[in-house]
Amino acid sequence: MDEKDYLEEVEVEDTKDSEDKDDRDSDYEEVCFLCHRPESKTGKLINLAKGICICSECMQKTMDTFQNSSQDFSKIPGFSFINLADLQNMIPQRQKVKKKKPKEEQPAKELDIRSIPAPHKIKASLDEYVIGQEHAKKVVSVAVYNHYKRVATGTQDEIEIEKSNMLMIGPTGSGKTYLVKTLARLLDVPLAIADATSLTEAGYIGDDIESVLSKLLAAADNDVEKAERGIVFIDEIDKIAKKKDTHHRDVSGESVQQGMLKLLEGAEIEVPVGANSKNAMVPLTTINTRNILFICGGAFPDLENVIKERLNKKSSMGFQADLKDKYDKEPNLLSKVTVEDLRNFGMIPEFLGRMPIVFTLESLTKEMLVRILKEPKNAILKQYQKLLALDEVQLEFNDGALEAIADKAMEKDTGARALRAIIEEFMLDIMYEIPKDDNIGRVTITREYIEHTGGPVITMRGVLALEGQG
Ligand code: ADP
Repeated sequence: MDEKDYLEEVEVEDTKDSEDKDDRDSDYEEVCFLCHRPESKTGKLINLAKGICICSECMQKTMDTFQNSSQDFSKIPGFSFINLADLQNMIPQRQKVKKKKPKEEQPAKELDIRSIPAPHKIKASLDEYVIGQEHAKKVVSVAVYNHYKRVATGTQDEIEIEKSNMLMIGPTGSGKTYLVKTLARLLDVPLAIADATSLTEAGYIGDDIESVLSKLLAAADNDVEKAERGIVFIDEIDKIAKKKDTHHRDVSGESVQQGMLKLLEGAEIEVPVGANSKNAMVPLTTINTRNILFICGGAFPDLENVIKERLNKKSSMGFQADLKDKYDKEPNLLSKVTVEDLRNFGMIPEFLGRMPIVFTLESLTKEMLVRILKEPKNAILKQYQKLLALDEVQLEFNDGALEAIADKAMEKDTGARALRAIIEEFMLDIMYEIPKDDNIGRVTITREYIEHTGGPVITMRGVLALEGQG
């Protein structure tokens, strides 16, 4: 084939490609290049050259500016008319947002009340993954059930069901993020996880508060409707407590709480698509947060002292005055938290008012850590057992080994987070050495191996076969 033929063929391919792309893009709508509003808001866009669209309002404004001015712009030093071809390089790759489906076209009701699993079913599914935390799982199941019932019925009459935003308090590694992640997966709704420490008031360095919705939109494949039924989890919420004794503007603390109020309550928010802050080059879309479930989580490290102070104050008055250190050794002091304590900690009342459900997670005990190692559906030990089973080797952990791992994790004081690191450390040698020898049939990890005072017990295939016969 000579070069000309070849070029023709390439061209034909290209057009086909772009047709396909047009088909796929029909779900997306153009956005005005100047004001960034989508076509559904502005009315028909005027297509300028090179894929740049502009709404009639912006076009009119531009024309008016030129007409009203008696100056000859070309004589102003430094003034030049925009060359559309130059703008081409500045346009982001996807200058489009997915269209909202018109209301009447919606399938009868996307969310059917009858298809929302009942609270006990949600909890039963959570039980398969999350160990312990019975109270938290129960609260979450009921809240989520109520929330999606509210979304499904869409009642806006005089008895409007209140939004079930949640505030989750629990030590590091107690499973806050894991609980929310599991929940979103079970319910098959998009989930955005954001860190409150990265948020700042708009205009300051850091992510704008709306960026949490951008993340949710991304998790929902830019599908606004899907995002509007999603879950937003904001971690480290204790880090945006009002700073005490500060004379500066608190752009990452109290202001962020203030900024979040609108989102939590339910409002139409303009959200940048695919970016963390609004700027001239990012298209915007509107998301209604009315049906988005917000879950905030934090470790609230000093909250225990605040609670203790309140309890001590109460009990040191009157005839039944107690000892001052009565609450020092109370194991789950956090569960006694009240809204008043959270206010004293630095959360503003308006914020707390929009978080009607407050609950705590327990700190993990040694027994819980042992169960986390082996019981969840995707337990870390099960994962290693599966890996070695592919080499036809059985992997076992005796009780002593499990306890030793849990002991080590307790020392680190980072909850279940430490478990994986500890296991990976000693499993490295096993995963490296075992596949070397085809005769190995079983490896038993012992306490001695974890504590570096001995090795694992290796059983050969021949012995296993004999055991099987016996
Ligand atoms: P945090 O409370 O700090 O958000 P995470 O949810 O990130 O903690 O927990 C870290 C990891 O520990 C999770 O990925 C999960 O595997 C494990 N984990 C923590 N708590 C539990 C639990 N109650 N049941 C099962 N696994 C847990």
